[in-house]
Amino acid sequence: MNKQQNGLKLSFFGGVGEVGKNIMALEYNNEILIIDSGMAFPTDDMPGIDVVIPDVTYLVNNRQKIKGIVITHGHEDHIGALPYVLQDLPGVPVFASKLSVALIENKLKEHRKIKCKPNAVKAGQIVKIGCFQVEFVKVTHSISGAMALAITTPVGVYFHTGDFKLDYTPIDGDPMNLIRLAEIGRKGVLLLTADSTNAERPGFSMSEKKVGVTLDNLFVQNAQKRIIIATFASNVHRIQQILNICEKYNRKIIFTGRSMLNICETAAKIGELKFNKDIIVDVNNIDKYKDEQLCILCTGSQGEENSALSRMANGEFNRIEIGENDYVIFSSSAIPGNEREINNVINLLYSKGASIVYESLAEVHVSGHAYQEELKTLHTILKPKFFVPCHGEYRHLRAHSNIAEELGMNARNIVIPELGDTITINKNVIKKSGTVPSGIKLVDGFEITEAGGVVQRDRVQLASEGVCIVTITISNKTWSLTSKPDIYTRGFVYIKNNEEVMNEARELILNQVISTNFKNQDWASIKNALKKSLQIFFFKKLKRKPMIIPIIIETK
Ligand SMILES: [Zn+2]
Ligand SMILES: [Zn+2]
Repeated sequence: MNKQQNGLKLSFFGGVGEVGKNIMALEYNNEILIIDSGMAFPTDDMPGIDVVIPDVTYLVNNRQKIKGIVITHGHEDHIGALPYVLQDLPGVPVFASKLSVALIENKLKEHRKIKCKPNAVKAGQIVKIGCFQVEFVKVTHSISGAMALAITTPVGVYFHTGDFKLDYTPIDGDPMNLIRLAEIGRKGVLLLTADSTNAERPGFSMSEKKVGVTLDNLFVQNAQKRIIIATFASNVHRIQQILNICEKYNRKIIFTGRSMLNICETAAKIGELKFNKDIIVDVNNIDKYKDEQLCILCTGSQGEENSALSRMANGEFNRIEIGENDYVIFSSSAIPGNEREINNVINLLYSKGASIVYESLAEVHVSGHAYQEELKTLHTILKPKFFVPCHGEYRHLRAHSNIAEELGMNARNIVIPELGDTITINKNVIKKSGTVPSGIKLVDGFEITEAGGVVQRDRVQLASEGVCIVTITISNKTWSLTSKPDIYTRGFVYIKNNEEVMNEARELILNQVISTNFKNQDWASIKNALKKSLQIFFFKKLKRKPMIIPIIIETK
């Protein structure tokens, strides 16, 4: 028998102290349940990287303990790393709502080696996974099929909200199950972990329905124009509202962008998106319609480089040319870090004569995350004994912790997690009890690389310092120099302004190799010595550290 450990353990591999890559592990005795497997977007110091994924070394090392993965909803910051996690943990069963399963299956198509058939679960369903009884509870969020988890463990009930807001008038007419939440609360909740994204925002978030009203008005005000709407492809409810409005005002709709086409098709197939097929028009038939008969729905609300909207703004979208009769609606908000790219696209669209409306000008977007008053409702209904805020940067977690204290919770019963923390919870105490590896891995095309690896360091150095190539030509008869060494640079210094320094550098190399007999010498050590002296020289003279590449060329 294994020694009993007398508490639940919760480990954070991402999602706390940062935006994105939500993934945590719930552990009791010898059993682990993984909650979500999200990815994050690369930051400016990761050139050429497509996706950032969590380091799951701890989970791989404890492979035999893992009983399953439950997914709260289908946003990338919750499912984006799933193919990579499954690659490391083959055969682990996955549980998710119908739409999440469809989105995961879409994703797995690009990773053919992974054999996984995710299990679709419904709201209200209870699934036993190891010693954990997981009840999926419907919540409202900016994607359909979002679930909270009420997990009955041998220590007590653990409630995880996933991403949520309290929307009393959701588009699918099926609001969050507050009655079930109250029942769970009455029986007693030991631990709550909850979405902290908007914990700094006072009041209530607006209902998704409000966006529909605003969009409807904008359609009326711009009846003569072509309307282009950029939004998140996964916001099925937003897209449903847009489809309804198009139908109402007799506009045809054109879906553009790969993820928009993919997700809309998937959602329509499983009945999450309902519309009359006649209103969809292929982009190739765009010329058959007048501007006022069209609405173009596209990706690119974050200014993403190759998105449909960016290509339109740049004049690179084959069939769609932006002009003065275009009315562009950004039905989205900026994910932190994307502001500059979005700004670029807005400027380009304006320069082509389009009219533009975005969040700060009209209510064309609502957040999918609960504001302070909604969080208070959640805490009040569930009355958890212990609380761990999650899904947010430190300031959001702190704000959420303050809300819990304001509602009467003892500060000792709250733990603000940091990335890599393991928190242990038993019936009477909650405390940080250790750490797990919590670094990141970078996905570069199809390759997974370590953060801070050689390729990354090289790209950063090349981008910020440039490159300096030194060529030394030697004769393979005399094994000595045939001419003076040459130096070529790119992105390093303006040669014209620094001719003197470059001449000195050439002299330096010449002096270093002039008496070398290349026949009996190890070329690698010659190159290393050249590299070193040039590094010291350039730093002394110019305070710069270019990448230095010495090349030795043999001639007859
Ligand atoms: Zn979400
Ligand atoms: Zn999220």
